[in-house]
Amino acid sequence: MEALCPISLRRCERPPEMQLGAMAGQVDDEGLDGSGIPIRQLCRTSAPILSLARLTSAPIPARPHRLRPRTPCGPSRGPVLLASRAGIILLADAAHPAPSVLSSMVLYHLAVFKLPVWVLRRIEKIMRSFLWMKPGATPGTRPHPLVNWRTVCRPKELGGLGVLDLERFGRAMRLRWLWYAWTDPDRPWIGTENPCDDTDMELFRASTEITLGDGAKCLFWHDHWMQGGALRHQFPDLFTIATRKRRTVQKELHQQNWIRSLARISTMAQLQQFVALWTTMQGVALQPHPDLIRWRWTESGIYTTASAYRYQFMGSCAPFRSAKFWKGHAEAKCRFFAWIALHGKILTADNLALRGWPHDPICKLCQIHHETVQHLTLDCHFSTSVREQIFAWNGTIGVPPPPGGNSLNDWWDETISHLPKEKKREASGAIIYSMWGVWKERNRRVFQNTALQPAAVAALVKEDIAQRAYAHTQDPGDGIVAQQS
Ligand SMILES: [Zn+2]
Repeated sequence: MEALCPISLRRCERPPEMQLGAMAGQVDDEGLDGSGIPIRQLCRTSAPILSLARLTSAPIPARPHRLRPRTPCGPSRGPVLLASRAGIILLADAAHPAPSVLSSMVLYHLAVFKLPVWVLRRIEKIMRSFLWMKPGATPGTRPHPLVNWRTVCRPKELGGLGVLDLERFGRAMRLRWLWYAWTDPDRPWIGTENPCDDTDMELFRASTEITLGDGAKCLFWHDHWMQGGALRHQFPDLFTIATRKRRTVQKELHQQNWIRSLARISTMAQLQQFVALWTTMQGVALQPHPDLIRWRWTESGIYTTASAYRYQFMGSCAPFRSAKFWKGHAEAKCRFFAWIALHGKILTADNLALRGWPHDPICKLCQIHHETVQHLTLDCHFSTSVREQIFAWNGTIGVPPPPGGNSLNDWWDETISHLPKEKKREASGAIIYSMWGVWKERNRRVFQNTALQPAAVAALVKEDIAQRAYAHTQDPGDGIVAQQS
């Protein structure tokens, strides 16, 4: 087990009081520190959560912990090193948001055990609270997610935030057991029970190609050693009546043993499949070398956890091209706002109505049309005026949105499609900041009863863009932020 898992067996023998269930039960009760990350809880719960005992949801008493920040911690940015009593160190900074840090805490467990569903759901609940909880919210406040968690957990290029889907990632990590059982049979745990279930096995077989050698490793009915997939799928009626379902190809081909296991053929369909299988078997010949296996999702043919994780999203469609705003020249919070807007989930009047929350259906900016995401971000003449002033300022030639026409996503793609790479990022940044400025103006009118004209909003947006550009101006010589000339 040690050869596979980065954690020693000695740590696995720690008492069950450090179990994962405790983490799920305690974090909700605490507030956040100045950096927006609950350092105390992370330290407490980042203790080794390994135990061979069954996980329990029963609460346990909190244990003392230590926090050893190794680098200066800013109020909201800057790296924070978290060291637990067991030496597991986590790094949280602006580039690694809290959900990713939290998910990293359970990776040790996921590599070895199949976590119960309730544990995964509780961890997801904590991660969801981190993402959607209002900063400074009192403990116990219920978050109001704007985007479905399954969407959040999709890769960025598929419209998500790239937060790890723990269930899928755990499955991807467990496939490592099956891979090493094939490729490194000298490992000491070979022959013991592994944590993989039937779904894991199916995923592994669908992800691998086997070149038949001596047939001593691959299973006759289950593995993909024939063209067209596993025999159990090609001949399902025969597999139902087969008496020895887990024998290797070598044993089944020896003296035609596979025919003896199909002695219970009784229907015409089974007989037809038997003839087809018999015909197929005539072309099979064992080779003197061992069976070879190849991972289908990497060029090298070697298993990687990342490729196994990505494969589980195969067939998913992206709702929009995400590169345009993730690579746009804008702050992370503004790109995050653009991501929500492209999903159509910002809390405009139409979405407030869906939630049954108080709202004014008329747009606060033009006082004419109904307030929707499409109207506020694209069609409203106030938004258009702000955006045109920004485009005129930075030299972007904007495409006017056709009335009642395409969506924000289509208009955005059309606007930046003809631009060179770097200019695309600038134009996307201008679009993001324009939407952000209009959204803040809308909120000022709703919550503060104050109003600015489009020119004033555009001036604020220009200031945001200029400040962001200044902050990202790096001196190539020593990496120090250059002084404004
Ligand atoms: Zn309007």
